[in-house]
Amino acid sequence: MNKSITRRDFLDGVALTIGAAAGGVISPPFAAAAAAQEAAAQDAAGYYPPALTGLRGSHPGSFEAAHALREAGFWPRAGTIAATGEDYDLVVVGGGISGLAAAHFYRARQPDARILILDNHDDVGGHAKRNEFEFAGRLALMNGGTWAIDSPRRYSAIADGLLRALGIDPVALTKKCADEKFYAKRGLARGIFFDREAFGADKLVVVRKGADWRDVLAGAPLSERARADIERIEEGTTDYFPGMSSAEKKARLARMSYRDYLRDVVKADAAAITLYEARPHGEWGVGADAVSALDVWAFDFPGFQGLRLAPGSAPHMGYTASGYADGGSYTFHFPDGNASIARLLVRHLIPDSLPGKNAEDVVAARLDYGRLDRPRAPVRIRLNATAVRVRHDGDAASAGDVEIVYARGGALSSVRSRACVLACYNMIIPYLCPELPERQKAALRYAFKIPLIYVSVALRDWRAFKDLGVSQVYAPASYFSSLALNEVVDIGGYASTRSPDEPVLVHMTRVPTAPGLPEREQHRIGRQDILSTSFATYERNIRDQLDRTLGPGGFDAARDITAITVNRWPHGYAYEYNPLFDPDWPPGEAPHEIGRARFGRIAVANSDAAAAAYTDAAIDQAHRAVAELLGA
Ligand SMILES: Cc1cc2nc3c(=O)[nH]c(=O)nc-3n(C[C@H](O)[C@H](O)[C@H](O)COP(=O)(O)OP(=O)(O)OC[C@H]3O[C@@H](n4cnc5c(N)ncnc54)[C@H](O)[C@@H]3O)c2cc1C
Repeated sequence: MNKSITRRDFLDGVALTIGAAAGGVISPPFAAAAAAQEAAAQDAAGYYPPALTGLRGSHPGSFEAAHALREAGFWPRAGTIAATGEDYDLVVVGGGISGLAAAHFYRARQPDARILILDNHDDVGGHAKRNEFEFAGRLALMNGGTWAIDSPRRYSAIADGLLRALGIDPVALTKKCADEKFYAKRGLARGIFFDREAFGADKLVVVRKGADWRDVLAGAPLSERARADIERIEEGTTDYFPGMSSAEKKARLARMSYRDYLRDVVKADAAAITLYEARPHGEWGVGADAVSALDVWAFDFPGFQGLRLAPGSAPHMGYTASGYADGGSYTFHFPDGNASIARLLVRHLIPDSLPGKNAEDVVAARLDYGRLDRPRAPVRIRLNATAVRVRHDGDAASAGDVEIVYARGGALSSVRSRACVLACYNMIIPYLCPELPERQKAALRYAFKIPLIYVSVALRDWRAFKDLGVSQVYAPASYFSSLALNEVVDIGGYASTRSPDEPVLVHMTRVPTAPGLPEREQHRIGRQDILSTSFATYERNIRDQLDRTLGPGGFDAARDITAITVNRWPHGYAYEYNPLFDPDWPPGEAPHEIGRARFGRIAVANSDAAAAAYTDAAIDQAHRAVAELLGA
């Protein structure tokens, strides 16, 4: 348990200070934050964030200034903001896919526009982050956040058009590059790990496709009653609402949680219900207690077979569930997830920063961070820079300029611009722009983000997975609710691991919840959990869980783990409203619709502005924001 991991470059993710940015002296309340936010200069030799391990995602140094702004407001002492003298046509706050797409759309309309993109992280892409590892000279990649091109609804003409402009054809790429059945073809199935704390004994069971649940659960630490109930949930054909139409049944299911359905309608044993508690984690960021039974039905969760519900969406479904009930988009997973989309956008905006010419060679290409923010370049991306104030130069209706103040490397600096797109988390906007109308600020504050953690673990080999016959494991009551071997995608010069004797990356997901509370309250507690947990705690839990799950296959954490990257997303998925807790807003009156209204020369983007946690939504909102600024 105490063996050190060689590639953990960061101790608790605290970066070595390579240099400090120029600017005015920082003032309270940023002084405390500044200590944590000593920014590495992005043009310093060796600056290469994708390869950093330890605490990533919202890494230390990225959020302190924003939290100080939230806690104490903005009050610089006179003379503490250094005017850079920089003047732009557009400043974009937020360098995620939405912010990068906004810059792209703006330049499509105004090719000579000078644009600055600010982001508080040390890397571009927002949630669409890339985790890089090196296995004996070979590049290994995993998504640190945004996993794939995959959405509940078809990509709009705008979002699809952007993918095409970047050379991405998801259908053709899947066919050419992805080996989706790689593990299944080798006999590996999914597993369930029962842990001793919740079930009385540690046990991994293998769920082979089409297997009888009685056989699957034969060795599981469950009572006869729980076993029979799980079998009934998985394979039963009972109609629990006899005499009701499909629409009536859907209406009932929309107003009860999956947990309540299993407990009160299916009348399942408590241990059987525990098996399903964490199943919604990865998609919804809460457990079975806070997702409606109808929403999980749309994801083929078990227990509904006998109800014979008509296919398709119904009233009172969440955005994700109703979309998937009616179809869904094309899909494609780049080895670094949608970081490839972000990087392709960067290549379009700043061509010489990333070598190559198509959507395949981008995967293995190395981004030159030193070229992202050069003085005479038409587009500049400034990292480690948190916007802390965005205000018109005078009255919003008539002002000619916007002033943007940002904190970076312990200093406050300002730039001017004709227009500004706020592609950042929408919940911070009321603090950036206190002069916004009160109703709009209240609506923006509703854009609560869903906290979750994606971990990339490098292993010496994956023999234990092979010997145990699993490629992914669901762990209903463990610290991490799932783990999975990296997907097999060969693209450009990038090749995935094929042999179980070769090193591999494993993905693990943790969603901190507080079951029983309303969804938004659970997220507040989960966010605190994420930010107050040290790397050592994550590391200990990773080692413990992998040892207990894979130990019977010969796995030894001390020997087999070679590196860990913990991607913390305290502000993760955009909030999509929950039919169990949120009202049905009248058309045009939902918080995201009120919140995203243009305010003078300032427009609002980000996936929050669609209340939809997807890349296509982030792109569509960027397009709308630019259209509002430049005229449709
Ligand atoms: C773990 C995870 C997995 C996901 N998987 C998928 C998936 O598979 N498919 C999918 O379609 N979507 C997925 N999503 C949703 C994802 O949020 C969107 O697809 C998309 O990446 C969002 O882009 P964005 O630009 O709107 O927001 P973000 O990526 O959040 O970018 C906003 C940026 O603004 C920055 N910012 C905030 N405040 C400030 C400030 N004051 N100053 C400067 N910068 C600021 C933020 O730090 C961030 O870097 C996932 C999200 C997460 C968290």
